[in-house]
Amino acid sequence: MTRMFVPGPVDVEPQVLAAQTRPMLPHRSQEFETLYREVSQKARQLFFTSQRVYLTASSGSGWQEAAVRNLANRSVLACVNGAFARRWYEVALANGKQAEALETEWHRPIEPGQVAEALRMRHYEILTVVHNETSTGLENPVREIAEAARSASPDTLICVDAVSSLGGVKIEMDAWGLDLVLTSSQKCLALPPGLALAAVSERALERAAAVENRGWYFDLLLLEKHRLKDSTPATPALSLIYALQVQLERILTEGLEARFARHQAMAERVQAWALAHGLELFAPEGYRSRTVTTIANTRGLEVAALNAYLLRQGMRIANGYGPLKGKTFRIAHMGDTQMTHIEDLLAAMSAFLG
Ligand SMILES: *Cc1c(COP(=O)(O)O)cnc(C)c1O
Repeated sequence: MTRMFVPGPVDVEPQVLAAQTRPMLPHRSQEFETLYREVSQKARQLFFTSQRVYLTASSGSGWQEAAVRNLANRSVLACVNGAFARRWYEVALANGKQAEALETEWHRPIEPGQVAEALRMRHYEILTVVHNETSTGLENPVREIAEAARSASPDTLICVDAVSSLGGVKIEMDAWGLDLVLTSSQKCLALPPGLALAAVSERALERAAAVENRGWYFDLLLLEKHRLKDSTPATPALSLIYALQVQLERILTEGLEARFARHQAMAERVQAWALAHGLELFAPEGYRSRTVTTIANTRGLEVAALNAYLLRQGMRIANGYGPLKGKTFRIAHMGDTQMTHIEDLLAAMSAFLG
């Protein structure tokens, strides 16, 4: 077995994998409705919301599309400081929206003041922002961004991609006034890929009713109609929902605060290791991801050789993403990764460095 320090798909615990072997149920059945109600209610705790959570058979990108299609007739302001943020901007354009990119350099966070200024210059129906940019290991200050956005333009809906952080970092949807928060199963939630979760506010649902061409698969009104009956419009990813049921139980048993603290401790450990070994961190202090560390390859290491060395010891890290390949490499410390695994990895990396 190879232990994954790659930011998705991450390792899945055996008992969670095993849950997927349960026999099928018809999704129009009492048993399924009971299951769906239980998991969608428990999942609200991950988002710190009392509003609704939808489960869809898709990856997280599906909800980047759902957000722009359901919540904007035309105008989208996309905060772009990394590859996944750029994808959301491209998704908006691909859906025919008039999207503007609010860009900063990839090693800088999105500044709340910049967002407020852009929203005062022009009205936008929605704002998109990535909480934890997996390509750069940078965490954007979403709470402050949301606060600035709301005071500059109260009716702009705030949509957040939390694919690689929800469940590992505290994101308080209701307290921060977020309208749509999306995540995928295969990253911080440590499930197999193929399921997406999204929490949606009441006012987002109201907005959707006034938006045309929402499509069908991700139509919020249709999803809501079925959710009210504890079901889904199309066939759900049943095996993944079984796995989610077990994983939610495990997460809530560990305790969310304990889980957040574990992620924070692993991040600090990896950051300290890098700095102690003559390497630098791509993201500036105060904005470093707690689930994935992007290390600037200031020693000119051959990342492929490093990974080949680690693979022989049953571990795998990730090269830099897109334009950052070779210039950076990434160590994920998310999901069910424990500090002991991080210590094993860092010991092997220290040995490689000699
Ligand atoms: C992985 C990732 C995505 C894409 O998610 P998929 O589940 O692969 O569609 C989007 N945003 C972020 C921040 C990611 O890390």
